[in-house]
Amino acid sequence: MPAPSPALLTVDLDALVANYRTLERVGGVPVHPVVKADGYGLGAAACAERLMREGARTFFVARTREGEQLRTALGSGPAIYVLDGCLSGQAGRLQGADLRPVLNTGAQLREWRSAGGGACGLQIDTGMNRLGLRPGDAPEPFEGLDLVLSHLACADEPTAPMNARQRDAFAAVAARYPGALRSFANSGGVFLGEDYAFDASRPGICLYGGGPEGRPDDRIRPVATFTAEVLQVRDVPAGESVGYSRGFVADGPRRIATIGAGYADGVLRSYSPEGRVWIGGALRPIIGRVSMDVSAVDVTGLEAAAGDAVELFGAHRMLDDAAAAAGTVAWELLTSVAARVPRRYVG
Ligand SMILES: *Cc1c(COP(=O)(O)O)cnc(C)c1O
Repeated sequence: MPAPSPALLTVDLDALVANYRTLERVGGVPVHPVVKADGYGLGAAACAERLMREGARTFFVARTREGEQLRTALGSGPAIYVLDGCLSGQAGRLQGADLRPVLNTGAQLREWRSAGGGACGLQIDTGMNRLGLRPGDAPEPFEGLDLVLSHLACADEPTAPMNARQRDAFAAVAARYPGALRSFANSGGVFLGEDYAFDASRPGICLYGGGPEGRPDDRIRPVATFTAEVLQVRDVPAGESVGYSRGFVADGPRRIATIGAGYADGVLRSYSPEGRVWIGGALRPIIGRVSMDVSAVDVTGLEAAAGDAVELFGAHRMLDDAAAAAGTVAWELLTSVAARVPRRYVG
């Protein structure tokens, strides 16, 4: 049993597997799950362990530390790539945990190879200008290099002309590394068509329930359900206010539920005024200012009582819709669920 808390993140591992299978089928190539940022907040170890049982053999994390923790959880079997690459002085740690850096610069390449090297990947920048070597600076093939990747800047916009430009640039440079596996598509990329698949995909958000185009998609099942318990229900007379700074003023008699989740749990302050939660079969607005530990929901006309659960996102309030209401994206909303919120696994 997780520690008692009014806020809870429930992770449906069967839905995770269903999304994994969908990504495999649509892409037509093996799926190498991205489990950085603690599996987008859902728990990297639990998600990766389950995906391993379903056949996943290669995972991506961002940080060396994330790789070390994942290695401890998964044991010696799977390949774990670290997207940060080989930071200065970190080669020994990477080698010690059998992690494969995705080398991003000439300096990282030299650092890794002068430390004895070993299996590693190489990131090519095909236009995003974030990480990786430009095609013109790509090195000759070298010992240990077993994966070459690039990352799409506009994968969630299928009509963006940049997608095909990046794909073609990647195909050209990857051909120089015949011994290396080619990894190109993130979640959105998987849905762009088979010419984006290359040898293996590298999805994150669609595994965890976000749509490939930043909005709910029938092909992707919700995985994470963020709930909070109602702590108290009160009747607020017309003219009175609720919460800090009188952020909400009742224009008539209102029934207000105070729920046990605030911004220290991952209920972003930007949720108000557009935020909604699912309660008693209806979507109801989050009102006033979200505070640290609690938020207020207008439940006028509902039978809400202390102990009832509200859903901040899940099957009734889709993750992408909740994110849009908070002015952000599913990736940030998921990774904002705080460490103090217990994770409960089902399936
Ligand atoms: C985060 C990340 C991914 C996964 O992207 P999603 O959009 O979540 O599927 C893939 N590749 C790289 C390099 C990343 O940084």
